[in-house]
Amino acid sequence: MVSVNNLKTKHFPTWCPGCGNYSIWTALQNAIVEIGLRISDFVLVYGIGCHGNMFNTLNVVNFETLHGRPIPVAEGIKLANNRLQVIVIAGDGDTLGEGTNHLIHAARRNIDITVLMHDNQVYGLTTGQTSPTSAKGFKSRSTPLGVIEEPINPVALAIAGGASFVARSFAGDILELTKVIIAAIKHRGFSFVDILQPCVTFNSHNSYQWYRQNIYKLPKNYKMNNKIVAFKKSLEWEKKIPVGIFYRQLKSTYEEETQQFKDCPLISSSLPASKAVAELLDELI
Ligand code: SF4
Repeated sequence: MVSVNNLKTKHFPTWCPGCGNYSIWTALQNAIVEIGLRISDFVLVYGIGCHGNMFNTLNVVNFETLHGRPIPVAEGIKLANNRLQVIVIAGDGDTLGEGTNHLIHAARRNIDITVLMHDNQVYGLTTGQTSPTSAKGFKSRSTPLGVIEEPINPVALAIAGGASFVARSFAGDILELTKVIIAAIKHRGFSFVDILQPCVTFNSHNSYQWYRQNIYKLPKNYKMNNKIVAFKKSLEWEKKIPVGIFYRQLKSTYEEETQQFKDCPLISSSLPASKAVAELLDELI
């Protein structure tokens, strides 16, 4: 098992002071320690964006992918060794711009991976362009007159896509965020967390103050197992933004339905295909 101290490398993130990524980074470490994961138990898979700056700062098995492609890479890792916990760290551009289709298909097949989406409603790494979750009217370098389109609602999309665990959390509340990340990682099936993450440099609209004025926690008696209620709740926004676990359902996962994984992970199997794949890799690599 790991501790927060031995999770860290000698590298410190270079995010702007006050960036919401620091809280997500801290909450993720807390969650890994709290769950009691060993380094050999899990893999972090990143997309491209400011969140990817986390890559060198954690002493874990990391995999940095192409922009928009962390979910299919995570699925590949999970299918190769379904005993691993596979956690995707991605941005709103990654998940809902370049990789929207991957989110929907991973959700509907209920593959047992976790997606933590850093949702700052802007492309921060490339110095402030409109993202798929930017508010209508948001002015940025790519939309100086304001965004014309409606933003994607990530929670509604994940619920409609068939995800079996869907939550929204706020980077300004590390304790709650840690709890939600723990629940998402422990969930058996596809889990998605939309993390509202202020970008203090390129998004002055979705600030800490704005969120603190507008978010509220889902009530204690909220029933997480009703998809219609969850979907209706997910449509609340602007002056009333619910945070918490919207939807949770236990159903069989893609791996459980796959006959080839019944006895052992694919990497340990002696399927005839393994030899063919090994030969192909020898030829290509
Ligand atoms: Fe964070 Fe925005 Fe700075 Fe990127 S540009 S590090 S998201 S504050």
